[in-house]
Amino acid sequence: MKEIVMQDTIVRRKTCRLCDGKDLKAVLELAPSPLADSYIPQSRLSEPQELYPMDLYLCGTCGFSQMLDVVQPQAIYFDYIYETKSSLGLVEHFGRYCDEVVKRIGLKPGSLVVDLGSNDGSLLSFFKKKGMKVLGIDPAREIARKATESGVETWAELFGSKLAEKIKREKGAAALITANNLYANVDDLFDITDGIKKLLAPDGVFVFETFYLADLMENMVFDFIYHEHISYFSAKPLKAFFAGRGMELVDAQRVPTKGGSVRYTAQLAGGPRKASPAVAELIAHEERLGIQTAESFKKFNARIDAAKNKLVSLLRELRAKGKTLAGFGASPTTTTLIYHYGITDMFDYIVDDNAQRHNLFSPGKHIPVLPPETLYERKPDYVVILAWRYAEPIMAKLGRYKAQGGRFIVPLPEVKVI
Ligand SMILES: [Zn+2]
Repeated sequence: MKEIVMQDTIVRRKTCRLCDGKDLKAVLELAPSPLADSYIPQSRLSEPQELYPMDLYLCGTCGFSQMLDVVQPQAIYFDYIYETKSSLGLVEHFGRYCDEVVKRIGLKPGSLVVDLGSNDGSLLSFFKKKGMKVLGIDPAREIARKATESGVETWAELFGSKLAEKIKREKGAAALITANNLYANVDDLFDITDGIKKLLAPDGVFVFETFYLADLMENMVFDFIYHEHISYFSAKPLKAFFAGRGMELVDAQRVPTKGGSVRYTAQLAGGPRKASPAVAELIAHEERLGIQTAESFKKFNARIDAAKNKLVSLLRELRAKGKTLAGFGASPTTTTLIYHYGITDMFDYIVDDNAQRHNLFSPGKHIPVLPPETLYERKPDYVVILAWRYAEPIMAKLGRYKAQGGRFIVPLPEVKVI
C-alpha cells in the first residue's frame, strides 16, 4: 500500500459550494476527529493521525449546509479500500435501483451508462446484464483494477469537465450518468456538474443518490457526518444549483439507504422530461421542518447532546463497576460517534464482520479491530453496537454471545440495553 502524506491536506473554502455566497454561519460543531475511515495496519501505528475540524456551516443565501474544511481527495480516495460488496444490503439495493431506473427513463439496450464513483462495479454489472454499454470512473486504483478485471471497464480517475470530454470522444454521449454516495464527497460541484452536462446526450439523464439532511436529522444519523461527507443536501438549494448550471432537477424519490437518502434525477435545461411534482413536494416538506434554518440545527444539537450524556454516563458507570466493554462496527461512523462522545478509551477492542478490517487499528486512538468470534473467547460483559443502524441483524447473528450471558448496548436513536 502506498504511503499517504498527511501534511497540508486540508483546504478551507470561503464560499458556499452550491451558490458561491459568502453568508456562512457555523451551525453544528462536532468534536474534531481523524479521517473517519483511516483504519491502519500495525506497521503504520507510529505515523501521526491529525484531528480535523468537523463543523457544519449554513449558507444564508441558498440554505445549503456544508463543511468548509475540505480534506483533499488524494489523501482519501486513491488508496481507498472500502468495497460496495462489503456493505450490508447495498448490492441488493443496486439491483433494484437498476431495474427501477431502466424502467423509469426507458433506457434502451446499447445505451452508454457511466457511473461516477463506481467502486467495485456492483451497480454497473446490473446495467451490463441488461445489454447496456458501461463505464466506471473511480479514483481508487486497486478497486478500479479489480472491477475492470471482473468485466466492468473502470478508469482510475477523478471525474470533472476535462475527463468528460475524453469520455465523450472515446465512448460517445451518455444516455445515463449515475453517481451514488459521491456528490456529497465532491468539493468542486461546479466542475463535476459541468462535466456531466458535457457528457450527457440531449435526452440523457443524470441520476444520483445521496443521504438526505432531513432524514439525517430526524433519524439521529449524526455519525454520518465525517470529513468525506462535505455536503448535506436537500432539494431546495439543489434545485437552484442545477438551474444555475444549465440543468434542471426533474425528480426526487426518497429511498431508505444510508439512514435516509434521496434519488435525484436531473436533465439538461429544456430536456424532454416533465418535472415530477415530487420535487416541489420535497421542498414543501423541508420548509415545514425548517431544515434550512440555524434553529433546526440548534435543536438537532440538543438532541445529540442528550443522547450523548445518557450513553456516556451509562458506560462510565459500567467501567467503574469493572465491567468489560467491546464495540461492534469498525466503520467511518464509529469514528465520529466515539470522538464526539469522548468515549475513545472505553473499548478494549472493536469487532467487525468485514475480514478486510481485522487486525487493523481504529483512526487516531488505535483501538484493535478483531473478528466477531473474539466475543465468544473473551466474553466481554457488554457489546456496544457502534454500527447501530444495523443493530437488529448484528444482534441476531450474535445469539451465541447472548446465550453465554453477554449483553448489548445500542447507542442510538435512543440508548437501549438488551
Ligand atoms: Zn449557498
